Amino acid sequence: MTSTSPDPARLVACPTCDTLFHADLLTAGRTATCSCCGTVIFAPRNGAIRTVLALAVAALVLMAVALGFPFLTMTASGLTTQASVIDAVASFAVDDMAPLSLAIGLLIVLLPSLRLCLLIYVTLPLALGRRPWPRAREAFRMNVELRPWSMAEIFMVGVAVAMVKVADMATISFGPAFWAMAAVATLLAAKDAVTCERTLWHMLRPA
Ligand SMILES: [Zn+2]
Repeated sequence: MTSTSPDPARLVACPTCDTLFHADLLTAGRTATCSCCGTVIFAPRNGAIRTVLALAVAALVLMAVALGFPFLTMTASGLTTQASVIDAVASFAVDDMAPLSLAIGLLIVLLPSLRLCLLIYVTLPLALGRRPWPRAREAFRMNVELRPWSMAEIFMVGVAVAMVKVADMATISFGPAFWAMAAVATLLAAKDAVTCERTLWHMLRPA
């Protein structure tokens, strides 16, 4: 329950009734329910850390595949054009549009990849049953804070909308990078669904 001198960083609020509990009372691996309203605050999922790690590694590998292969091929009036993700990023790097090119590269490739690297750094030792690596808390905090800026999924939604618009004017065929990026977007969503931030913070707490 509430402590007499609570450290705000170690308090957990019930999502339904806002009752505060001390994080030390919540044991990782055991289901914890709110004593006031019965809401489940913690529910153990065996092997969730390994699942998160596997999804992050798979997404990172597929991101590399997406950068190395053609994204789509367009044919119109006998002319064929092939474009990769890097071409899409570089296509704005003309005149004074260079900042837009840089922003697209950051938002759809660099930041999602950085978040995956940080998550792998945080979860790899935990999945192996070891102590967290140095500065793992800072790495996880950065991973969480970068989430709103990581837009690989939004890029795929934009591509889907553009395909509908262009479909009447040109014949479009998707390359390996398209399917790799689609898989990255799916894996990122699956990773977010499986990741329990509260459990990770709990595992990363200072000894
Ligand atoms: Zn409650």
